Amino acid sequence: MIKRRKTSTVTAGNVKIGLKYPIVIQSMVKVPTTDISACIKQINALAATGAKLVRVAIPAKPDSIAFARIVQKVKIPLIADIHFSAERAIEAIEAGAAKIRLNPGNIKDRNDINRIIDCAKAHKIAIRLGINEASIRNLLRDTAQRQRTDLMIKEMAGYIRLFENRGFNNMVLSVKSSDVIRTIESNRAIAKKFDYPIHLGLTHAGLAQDAIIPASIALGTLLWQGIGDTIRISIAGEPVQEVEIAKKILEPLGLFKSNEPQLVVCPTCGRVQWDLIKFAQQTKKLLAEIHKPIRVAVMGCIVNGPGEAADADIAVCAAADKGFIYKKGKKIAIVKQKNLFAVLKAEIKKIDC
Ligand code: SF4
Repeated sequence: MIKRRKTSTVTAGNVKIGLKYPIVIQSMVKVPTTDISACIKQINALAATGAKLVRVAIPAKPDSIAFARIVQKVKIPLIADIHFSAERAIEAIEAGAAKIRLNPGNIKDRNDINRIIDCAKAHKIAIRLGINEASIRNLLRDTAQRQRTDLMIKEMAGYIRLFENRGFNNMVLSVKSSDVIRTIESNRAIAKKFDYPIHLGLTHAGLAQDAIIPASIALGTLLWQGIGDTIRISIAGEPVQEVEIAKKILEPLGLFKSNEPQLVVCPTCGRVQWDLIKFAQQTKKLLAEIHKPIRVAVMGCIVNGPGEAADADIAVCAAADKGFIYKKGKKIAIVKQKNLFAVLKAEIKKIDC
């Protein structure tokens, strides 16, 4: 079992972030904030998929105005994504943001930062203090990895001091890079130095097919080391997919318990005597309609079939023109291939969770 790192607890609306609470899955709205109905639709879809917090970009005044209306119409707490402008931050907080994401490095005036802190304190909201490697690129140019991490930590320590000196502690930290190794190293360094919760993400990761593996390596490594209290998988694609991938990263680490079925399929090899992939796809489609935490295995032969069946609620193990059906590891039927799917379907429906 993973031993999560000790942290303070941060409150963002009705969501608690930190050691004592489940890891919070986040995503971000990907339509213009001023398109209020599209935003609400996306936020609701994200919430239905499992996001507990959703971030909304507030680049200009009309976005703050739209944000105020969106906040009223959705059920989950929202994070306002702020860059460059104290006015946008204050407008978003006053509109009802539960948290703002702020990179103090792009708000140059200290008085502006102080105004944001005071407003956040008055409204009891949370702030994510985020450093993006890209935003301090000049500082990091030509710098060796070790020194880069030190510089990012120094930058973060300076921001934290600024907030703490004004009596603000409801903070989540993040250091983001598009590089897997740098993401791991810089997050390990901040985890060692500070005890605020950490938001994990691999930024600018790419299209889903390119982003999933690097994000899984970076975030999986950190989570396995007990680091990370909220996560977002950044992909150039549908936001709902970000939440689905996040769940897939957390689940095998024991950090997320799904209520959905799990399908195990053998990779197939020369021993398979019928179209097992097609059968597995058919089963996957069936399971998408069944909202029970069951484990189903579809195996191509008796080499690993019975072993895998032992760990499954229900399993099919293929033979030449028939299949063996197992329930909780016990063989319950031998069925002709043409009837196999119908029998499997009936057995899955019988399982009571
Ligand atoms: S279970 Fe059988 S068919 Fe599937 S990969 Fe293993 S040996 Fe091959």
